[in-house]
Amino acid sequence: MTVTLTALPYNSDSLAPHISERTLDFHHGKHHQAYVDNLNKLIGGTALAGEPLENIIKKTAGKADKTGIFNNAAQVWNHTFYWQSMKPGGGGMPSGQAAAKIDTDLGGYDRFIREFKNAALTQFGSGWAWLVLKNGRLEIIKTPNADTPIAHGLQPLMTLDVWEHAYYLDYQNRRGDYLEAFIQHLVNWDFVNANLP
Ligand code: FE
Repeated sequence: MTVTLTALPYNSDSLAPHISERTLDFHHGKHHQAYVDNLNKLIGGTALAGEPLENIIKKTAGKADKTGIFNNAAQVWNHTFYWQSMKPGGGGMPSGQAAAKIDTDLGGYDRFIREFKNAALTQFGSGWAWLVLKNGRLEIIKTPNADTPIAHGLQPLMTLDVWEHAYYLDYQNRRGDYLEAFIQHLVNWDFVNANLP
């Protein structure tokens, strides 16, 4: 059994103009696919082959001799989670339990936006900004490179990929403009609510 590339949950042209079809085709079809292919090569014939992806991540996290496997496995997982964190016509104000918890745990929507933007903009180089659940409370964190909350016992609720490959074709170096489009037009609050216990 090998790890497979999960299909996008929408057509590759349906997040345009905020994320173009060209970006999604490269990002999903080339970058995400490459992590899947590299992972399968690295685990082929080892005890990790056939393990669920989350187990591979947890078993290789922090192991100096398993960095390659961890990086590729975590990137496969992170990207699948990122696709689900967006939807056509998303963004704007949260609803339901997500909205209520943003008020009680994070001090309201405006503060959430400030902190999420800060995490995404201050991640130096490649990485991810996340809304996670820690001990039942919402938190905003950033992770470098391939690192992922599930390696640290945190429950991810949504994520933004801030690797340059996520936005360079559409926004060049303007990470802030990509971030603004994500917040205003793409965040899938239904997915956040579905991830809350
Ligand atoms: Fe990416």
